[in-house]
Amino acid sequence: MNLRKHCPAIYGPVQSRRHGLSLGINLGDPYAKICTWGCIYCQCGFGSRKESTETVEGQKLPPVNQVLEELAGALNLHPNLDSVTLAGNSEPTAHPDFLEIVRSILALRKKVNGRWIFNCLSNGSELNRATVVEGCNALDEAWIKLDCGIDDLFRRLNRPTASVGSIEAHIERIQRLSKPMIQSLFWNCSSSPEVSNWTEANRQAVLRAYVKIAPKQIFITTVDREPAFPDAEPVKREELEAFAEEIRQKGFPVKVFAR
Ligand code: SF4
Repeated sequence: MNLRKHCPAIYGPVQSRRHGLSLGINLGDPYAKICTWGCIYCQCGFGSRKESTETVEGQKLPPVNQVLEELAGALNLHPNLDSVTLAGNSEPTAHPDFLEIVRSILALRKKVNGRWIFNCLSNGSELNRATVVEGCNALDEAWIKLDCGIDDLFRRLNRPTASVGSIEAHIERIQRLSKPMIQSLFWNCSSSPEVSNWTEANRQAVLRAYVKIAPKQIFITTVDREPAFPDAEPVKREELEAFAEEIRQKGFPVKVFAR
């Protein structure tokens, strides 16, 4: 599916490197990528950035009942899922009814005796809201992005909106979770090295951030699908594995996902 053009409320299932056979849920507008970050590697393109508190004329977020009805239908069609994942073309936790959606899906899973893992891929921008922390803590797994440990890189490459603030503020928000899980994506850029986050200085800054957060699990990965900035290149698997070994030496469980 080309998530740049259209991403319905329920999509897939897709075979995910990290989450197995996974049914996706998009809580953003199906026809417009609007996120609180604007990562240069985003597979949904650059789209638009906005604060979760701003309204955008014409933006249509799926209501709770639509998500539940469509999810129930998809679960009937796909009984052997490994996971159901809140992801899509935008920041899922920016949906105003995020907590209600999480609670309703957990209730649906209980009702249908679902065996799938319920998780969320998030940039963590909304973790200053108690309802978002509660929703993320209720999930089986809430995976929060941490690609840059250096503030300048964070601002230039993840391109967060103003309210997200500094990398320190981002780390402090993640620390509010009861069982933080981190996904870090690294890339090279031979045409413009200043656009790469695969530097020794950034790796060490990311390691220091892991120590502050003490994640339950870390996934490190690299560019796999067409990035918004076309010159972003994948990091070699063996280089990622070498960094993973450094992470293990700090005492954190880590897995590498790369071709
Ligand atoms: S946080 Fe996710 S959806 Fe938002 S720009 Fe980054 S990769 Fe894309």
